[in-house]
This record gives sequence, structure tokens and C-alpha cells, in this order.
Amino acid sequence: MDCIFCKIAQGDSGATKVMENDNIVAFYDVNPKARVHILIVPKKHIESIKNLEDADAELVGEMFMAAKKIAEDQNLEGYKLVINVGRDGGQLVDHLHLHLLSSDVSGI
Ligand code: AMP
Ligand code: ZN
Repeated sequence: MDCIFCKIAQGDSGATKVMENDNIVAFYDVNPKARVHILIVPKKHIESIKNLEDADAELVGEMFMAAKKIAEDQNLEGYKLVINVGRDGGQLVDHLHLHLLSSDVSGI
């Protein structure tokens, strides 16, 4: 499968990682839409929110807890969390990801 976020998760493609554990990897967006723009990605390939199963509920929770932890570690006073769903929702990469944006957010 030719999925850029799977490749990053597996270490087969370069990205500046912010955190990583068994289930999740977070890295800086290559084309930032804010002064801080980090993507929080489950290592499991799930195409989008549309493809979630009940068994993924804990994993989605982990994504949000990772966002909270990263924001604390980076001393972000405020931030925006965004998930684009489907082409009409602005999703370009078909591997679920949570955008963490802070300061001067534009066009997400
Ligand atoms: P979305 O439009 O929600 O699918 O967001 C995809 C995001 O992935 C965009 O903000 C891109 O800039 C970002 N992106 C695409 N390829 C890479 C990559 N190789 N490394 C880091 N970020 C990427
Ligand atoms: Zn993938």
C-alpha cells in the first residue's frame, strides 16, 4: 500500500517526529498552516473517521490525549484541533490524522 503516513510511521520516510509510542506517531506538518502545526497519526492504517470501528474508540482517545500532552510539552497557551474527513472536508491524505495548530492559523 502506498501510504505516506504508514511509511512515516514505519520509519521508511522522513519526518521530524515529536513523539512516538506503540500506537501513535506525531510529526511536524511539511507544509505548516500555523506557527506550530503537528500531525498526530495512529500507526494503524485507518482511512478516515468514516472508517472507524467500535474497537478503534480507545485509539482515537489516545490521539487526543497525545495532542494534549504535546501541547503541554510545547507550552502552547491555546491551539486548534482539526480532523478533515473526505475530499469535501478537505482531507488530502487518506490515513486518519489529527491536526494540532497554534498561532497564526490559516486555511485549514
Ligand atoms: P489533510 O488535508 O487533512 O489530509 O492534511 C494532510 C496534511 O499532511 C497536509 O497539511 C500536508 O501538508 C501534510 N503532509 C503531506 N505529506 C506530508 C509529509 N510527507 N510529511 C509531513 N506532512 C505531510
Ligand atoms: Zn496509512
